[in-house]
Amino acid sequence: MILKSADEIVTLAQKSAISLVRFLFCDTTSVIRGKCTRTDKLKERIESGIGLVKGTMALNILDHLQVDTGLGAVGEVRLIPDLETWAVLPYSERSAALICDLQELDHRPWDHCPRSLLKRVVEEAKAAGYSFQIAFEPEFILGSFENGEYKPIDRSMCFSTDGMNRASKFINRFVDSLERQGIEVEQYYPEQGPGQHELSIRHTSPLKACDRQIYYRETLRGVALEQNLEAMIGPKPFEDQPGNGCHLHLSAWDIYQERNLFWAENGLSDFGRFFVAGILQHLPALVALTCPSVNSYRRLRPRAWSSAYTCWGFDNREAAVRVPSVYWGQEMATSNIELKCVDSSCNPYVALAAVIACGLDGVKRQLTLPPPVDVDPSTFSADEMIERKIERLPATLQEALIELEEDEMLMNVLGNFGKTFIAVKTSECGAFAGANTDFELSQHRTRF
Ligand code: GLU
Ligand code: MG
Repeated sequence: MILKSADEIVTLAQKSAISLVRFLFCDTTSVIRGKCTRTDKLKERIESGIGLVKGTMALNILDHLQVDTGLGAVGEVRLIPDLETWAVLPYSERSAALICDLQELDHRPWDHCPRSLLKRVVEEAKAAGYSFQIAFEPEFILGSFENGEYKPIDRSMCFSTDGMNRASKFINRFVDSLERQGIEVEQYYPEQGPGQHELSIRHTSPLKACDRQIYYRETLRGVALEQNLEAMIGPKPFEDQPGNGCHLHLSAWDIYQERNLFWAENGLSDFGRFFVAGILQHLPALVALTCPSVNSYRRLRPRAWSSAYTCWGFDNREAAVRVPSVYWGQEMATSNIELKCVDSSCNPYVALAAVIACGLDGVKRQLTLPPPVDVDPSTFSADEMIERKIERLPATLQEALIELEEDEMLMNVLGNFGKTFIAVKTSECGAFAGANTDFELSQHRTRF
């Protein structure tokens, strides 16, 4: 990889007549925020960063500061851009962006920096001999609100060509805009719900996959705005319609990316079995990070293909971990696992760091994987559940947070950020507990 220099970035900005460059980061509650610099100050800002009050990471989804985190008006970090993330934004005139790390004034990564957390977990995995290929697979709903009434862009059926036609003006512009930012589109199709679509991005390294998820969300909202549409990527925009997943595909490799460690003739290697066992063992706590909004738990219900139980299976879309069938002639290359209980309200850096840590914990402890499930797990009796070691996933964010707080391994991985996360998210549970459903739905639809 050829690293870009500050001078090269400035030249690129001048060539595209960029007026403002956005320094972006994804916060504790997964809102993408940033500050902008003018192009004539860009070089200076790349070197010095842009100042940010530490309290920003203690804001909840209603933008309310949680002072019990210890973060507030005092204390400062710097937004330090990763120059490899440079992107000219096709949906916003004369604008470009860089994704940033949060650094302490003494240049160390701040212990609340999600991107630095992922980098640390990936580095530790690399030292142990492992690397990963990652793809997020977001779903979203397109529509508009006219006089308060919601109108989906289509009422077409799953995979239907009618849906493709009706959404094509948006989808074509979305695909072009992603490709212009170097983000390779893998597949697209209309999903089940009214106005619901799924467009996936090609797999890549963990950090890049998360950076792409940030640009994906930015581009989705930006293109929707251009076309007077609302793009709703929140987990459950409407109570009576299918939820939006953001399934996570993951494969583990040696550090030279030559050997897929999950691959075996029988469908999953011993390494893969330990890895999945690690995920399943930590899953009740892990979902607090992969499905971290109050709204997430309206989606995680049986018979919604979103997963609701701690089980796994081959090509089983009701299992939390699906092992998809491999493609002919590319068996090793396409061997991967899919985690279903992930949605776009997660901070991708935090969620992925946690998933990798759980999987590798299973490898380290050589955990035993229960047998695969080849039916809908909600059809099991209570006794079968116990026998098969299957649990219902937490039914609320509050329950998931309690599990997380008790998960020593995960809390260690998160460090000080873990306590802030729990405080911020607990405040959201409180804020929506007494509120009506519409308020909760409306506060999550377009936030992410
Ligand atoms: N919409 C489903 C979810 O919430 C996923 C449907 C599918 O693509 O399998 O996860
Ligand atoms: Mg889908």
